[in-house]
Amino acid sequence: MSPDNYPSLVLNADFRPLSYYPLSLWCWQDSVKAVFLDRVNIVSEYDRAVHSPSIEIKLPSVVSLKNYVRPALYPAFTRFNVFLRDRFSCQYCGAMDDLTFDHLVPRSRGGMTRWDNVVAACAPCNLKKGGKLPNASGMRPSQMPYRPTVYELHRNGRLFPPNYLHDSWLDYLYWDTELEP
Ligand SMILES: [Zn+2]
Repeated sequence: MSPDNYPSLVLNADFRPLSYYPLSLWCWQDSVKAVFLDRVNIVSEYDRAVHSPSIEIKLPSVVSLKNYVRPALYPAFTRFNVFLRDRFSCQYCGAMDDLTFDHLVPRSRGGMTRWDNVVAACAPCNLKKGGKLPNASGMRPSQMPYRPTVYELHRNGRLFPPNYLHDSWLDYLYWDTELEP
């Protein structure tokens, strides 16, 4: 594996991830640099090491910030995060396949692309609803769209973990019961 494939999970000074959605990951170059700048502690390492003429350092798999950073309450508005809020299911029929995004108030009617107007919808439902307003289509989402907190996404995130999680990260991701609201 190339060193490029050794990301570091970045924890806050309280050993919780700096961010969940997206998960706070640094490339190894950034984490090694932060170690030398004395900004982070190494919590866990990969077996893989990199060398300079004078030193050898194992690539950090988990680092923690020395100074606490106040975490954001709201996650970024991203496609993944909208799906996660809606639990990867169509908000009209519950299907989990062929997911797209539906604008509750269609863009053609001035609907905005933001948390409170975008829901996950399967392609057939999206097509059926077309450019109609909710009243005209008779289709209402099972849950009205809203801006979730990081805590709410975190709750759903336990059901849909990312594809790649290094073993050394797991202790910091899913057993932090204090994160429950
Ligand atoms: Zn559907």
